[in-house]
Amino acid sequence: MAEVLVVVETTGAVGAAGGYGVKKVTLEMLTLARELGEPAAVVFGAPGGAQELGAKLGEYGAVKVYAAEGEQITAHLVAPKATVLAELIRRVQPAAVLIGSTQEGKEIAGRVAVKLDNGLLTDVVALAADGTATQVAFAGSTIVKSRVTRGLPLVTVRPNSVTPTPAPAAAPAVEAVAVALGENDTLARVVERVAEQKGTRPELTEANVVVSGGRGVGSADNFKLVEEIADLLGGAVGASRAATDSGFYPHQFQVGQTGKTVSPQLYVALGISGAIQHRAGMQTSKTIVAVNKDPEAPIFELADFGVVGDLFKVVPQAAEEIRKRT
Ligand SMILES: Cc1cc2nc3c(=O)[nH]c(=O)nc-3n(C[C@H](O)[C@H](O)[C@H](O)COP(=O)(O)OP(=O)(O)OC[C@H]3O[C@@H](n4cnc5c(N)ncnc54)[C@H](O)[C@@H]3O)c2cc1C
Repeated sequence: MAEVLVVVETTGAVGAAGGYGVKKVTLEMLTLARELGEPAAVVFGAPGGAQELGAKLGEYGAVKVYAAEGEQITAHLVAPKATVLAELIRRVQPAAVLIGSTQEGKEIAGRVAVKLDNGLLTDVVALAADGTATQVAFAGSTIVKSRVTRGLPLVTVRPNSVTPTPAPAAAPAVEAVAVALGENDTLARVVERVAEQKGTRPELTEANVVVSGGRGVGSADNFKLVEEIADLLGGAVGASRAATDSGFYPHQFQVGQTGKTVSPQLYVALGISGAIQHRAGMQTSKTIVAVNKDPEAPIFELADFGVVGDLFKVVPQAAEEIRKRT
């Protein structure tokens, strides 16, 4: 069976205090890869990383881990990763290549496509064994089916598109990949790394529970109410674009077409109307709860459980009830 290369997205750093791990999108891609061939993970980073992640990757079906590690990778931006990946693809001739639809993933994919003169599909939500990819366009209103017709299926996979499912555990073999770079690959050098200050809340795109506030929350100060519910439920905080544009909450927490895509078990929308661009980022959530004072708000078309009411009355009561049960 041909290999399916999955480029691993990681959290933290090898040996760092916060730990080193695999992002959920990687587990989603490994789950998808199992349908297409033999999953082989590709780890870029500091020495020892592939070994450290091997067990987790094996748990989701990776039978092999290619390790491209060392200073040549960590000291530069994406160019070395694209060069190494393109070379690996030439050598292995995989059935498909899956890369996370993240900022870095898309940049690697674009560079690889140019290097190999290969077609590329981005933001794919499903990939069939015959290479037919599914993309969701125009804020979820149009489903596009397409296929790479030049070269092999090279796709970036949109996070939260596939439910990650463990496979019968295998201990993948780790194979070191030679890193042979050209002059152009090392032009941009990393001069400093600053660790992002993280709170205790889970990462928005990885969280099982997301509580989002919209314009109806009214002010940055009132967002404490949204944070309170999120903390009680062990969830992440999100916001609509109207809320971030109004300065109620930082832009990196925006959910929607031009923000983050989330797919939690529970999505709570407080004072959000449910515009199509917001729905594009959260409509695949398993259970959607909405609080809105307007019974005609479009969010109620999507909600599994809706409360028509003033969020400043409803939310404190909900918090009280949650507290009693935890
Ligand atoms: C190209 C493009 C991209 C976009 N991308 C995004 C995106 O990524 N994400 C996004 O969210 N939007 C996006 N938008 C904006 C989107 O069209 C909407 O304007 C936005 O989602 C509205 O945010 P909102 O629901 O918070 O505000 P509103 O539409 O103003 O809704 C506020 C809601 O709060 C309710 N409300 C008010 N007070 C209370 C109260 N006290 N209690 C309960 N309910 C209350 C109101 O009834 C209303 O339904 C995009 C727009 C464009 C054109």
